Amino acid sequence: MGGGPAGLAAAANVNSAGYKAVVVEKEDVLGGAPILSGYAKLVPSGEWAKDAIGRMVKRVEDDANSTVHKSAKVEKLEGEAGNFTATLTNGESVQAGAVVLATGFTHFDSINKPEWGFGTYEDVLTTTQMEQMVGSGKIACPSDGRVPERVCILLCVGSRDRQIGREWCSKICCTVSANLAMEIKEISPETDVFIYYMDIRTFGLYEDKFYWKSQEEFKTKFVKARIAEVTASGDGRLLVKGEDTLVKRPIIIPFDIVVHAIGMDPNADNPELSQVFGIGLEKHGFIEKAEQYTNTCGTTRKGIYSCGAAYGPETIDDSIAQGAAAGGRAVADLHALVQKAG
Ligand SMILES: Cc1cc2nc3c(=O)[nH]c(=O)nc-3n(C[C@H](O)[C@H](O)[C@H](O)COP(=O)(O)OP(=O)(O)OC[C@H]3O[C@@H](n4cnc5c(N)ncnc54)[C@H](O)[C@@H]3O)c2cc1C
Ligand code: SF4
Repeated sequence: MGGGPAGLAAAANVNSAGYKAVVVEKEDVLGGAPILSGYAKLVPSGEWAKDAIGRMVKRVEDDANSTVHKSAKVEKLEGEAGNFTATLTNGESVQAGAVVLATGFTHFDSINKPEWGFGTYEDVLTTTQMEQMVGSGKIACPSDGRVPERVCILLCVGSRDRQIGREWCSKICCTVSANLAMEIKEISPETDVFIYYMDIRTFGLYEDKFYWKSQEEFKTKFVKARIAEVTASGDGRLLVKGEDTLVKRPIIIPFDIVVHAIGMDPNADNPELSQVFGIGLEKHGFIEKAEQYTNTCGTTRKGIYSCGAAYGPETIDDSIAQGAAAGGRAVADLHALVQKAG
């Protein structure tokens, strides 16, 4: 279930073991969030999303052992591990020994943070919209097409925010934003990019490759701040108001474009998936793991596996690794079931 990076990796691994994989994707294209939301160059490879994920899509679509159902969901699942029957919304029925839920996440909707101007001002965008602008090769204010003098990226929009029930860190948005700042500067050298942060979490090797490089080579300005609101100034620009939490002083700076670094919510379909597949969800609404160390791809129901951002905020690379593991684990468990049955 799900044809994003995790689901494609799971299907490819099932195929490479000589088993048949049936991919059920609710949208009309495969590729998941990086394709559906038009990501630009990926972290950390720097490769365009359409090329990198496109290769994953092609590998599955070209494999004679794969069947793909697009614009379809599972509406009923009967049977048990080793012998499931899934009824799809397109009227088809699929026999499957195991199910992998690679159903990913839903982007945070910035409308739920109204004080930061999204939906009110045309020049307040999300990171996905900014990635699409980078992909178009031109950086311009949506309101009037002018080249922005200053762009500001606000981190943790819809993450690490208890007031709106988002208690998790979305893991990748600091790195994605440091990368986005470099991409903006590359296309539009006259634009200055500011990143407003609570903490910077460019984990592991990303610290050097994205955080320091963005500051030192691309002159991105990192400001530790608590943002109160985004309003309009008299001259058609945007005013970002808040407190610089290092010097403990109020700051009001005009910008031409404000970008929300949106977080990763649990997939909005998860309550439905929980019911149809009879699996548990953890307290935030992501899919619950069976066991942390010995059954890392499991759910609370035998024969049903999960991986990637369905379990919680995750990077593409780790979603792929988990997808491959889930596909492998499903095949190994099926093999054991068949052997046991004689
Ligand atoms: C703005 C932004 C930029 C990012 N950039 C990067 C980056 O550069 N590098 C990086 O490592 N990570 C990046 N990420 C994280 C990346 O998006 C995730 O790691 C990745 O998409 C997770 O892959 P997935 O397959 O688990 O889930 P998804 O990509 O969400 O794919 C899930 C798939 O399942 C389908 N689906 C959902 N529900 C159902 C259902 N009920 N029935 C059937 N199909 C269903 C969906 O349509 C989708 O195709 C970024 C995240 C954000 C928010
Ligand atoms: S990765 Fe960075 S921007 Fe994203 S939620 Fe965590 S701290 Fe905030």
